[in-house]
Amino acid sequence: MKKTAVITGGAGFLGSHLADRLLQENCKVICIDNLITGNLDNIGHLFGNEDFSFIKHDITNFIHVMGPVDYILHFASPASPIDYLQLPIQTLKVGSLGTHKALGLAKEKNATFLLASTSEVYGDPLIHPQTESYWGNVNTVGPRGVYDEAKRFAESLTMAYNRYHNVKTRIARIFNTYGPRMRLNDGRALPAFISQALNNEPLTIFGDGSQTRSFCYVDDLVDGLVRLLFSDEVYPVNIGNPAEITIKQFAEEVIELTGTKSSITYMELPEDDPKVRQPDITRATEILGWSPKVDRKTGVLRTIDYFKNQLKH
Ligand code: NAD
Repeated sequence: MKKTAVITGGAGFLGSHLADRLLQENCKVICIDNLITGNLDNIGHLFGNEDFSFIKHDITNFIHVMGPVDYILHFASPASPIDYLQLPIQTLKVGSLGTHKALGLAKEKNATFLLASTSEVYGDPLIHPQTESYWGNVNTVGPRGVYDEAKRFAESLTMAYNRYHNVKTRIARIFNTYGPRMRLNDGRALPAFISQALNNEPLTIFGDGSQTRSFCYVDDLVDGLVRLLFSDEVYPVNIGNPAEITIKQFAEEVIELTGTKSSITYMELPEDDPKVRQPDITRATEILGWSPKVDRKTGVLRTIDYFKNQLKH
């Protein structure tokens, strides 16, 4: 019999790619999403598929799903700084109440639960690269605290359900991921640079551009997530691409790859912006046999193509 996977946040960027992949893995997929930052266009191509269904629902309220469920992938949450700074209470609620409801469903159905956690649990890190054993450096009362602390709470709640209720749980600490279906205007550096370049506008760097990021292509990330889901690993696993680049170098790379005439402008660095970000993926490699395959140039070119198409509509 086919397995059934529930994806909270399934109409979002990552959730919709996971839906595609799990359908390919011969699962039935139920996406639950209130569309607060997601978009039905991301899953529009799946609506004719008899193994796919969509439920519009705010998962901070009780989640009811008919029939057996084997996997719950909990991806619902505003995820980009622009979103969670505009939706601070919703972000805290979905990380706490939403995670509670999703874990409750996992307990009821005896399903395996995978939490989409984040590298932001490391805050502005004091060790580099970041290993899972690092406890992080988060400002609880800063503007970004709403996201970081919601995810840290979600990790603790997940471990409590594992230890106290014996729910099979997995925690993925996801690092910056990019690819088709990102929103052009979600405020993250990568879509911002590409859309500015395609519109021949100056690329906006916050700070002096010496801060680093490590970008993972979405297909690689999804592969790591599925391997984690099917593994037995309970403790957090970093999933990301360790290829680190400064924001300034990345802006120059986007200028080169798009062939734009855009220049670069500099603006003030937002509060608590992490200065460095690079995953240590030793655990993912050892436990899951996973490492990213898509190099940045290939991934960025695919993403540029997607954004070019989006701009036509
Ligand atoms: P996204 O905004 O595209 O997707 C999130 C989805 O969750 C949206 O469709 C939104 O409508 C839905 N949602 C939010 N609150 C909800 C609620 N209360 N009830 C039901 N649905 C709700 O973001 P994304 O980039 O796809 O991120 C997905 C998950 O992965 C998030 O949990 C995010 O924290 C995590 N993550 C993403 C990245 C990344 O680089 N994209 C990095 C680390 C972690």
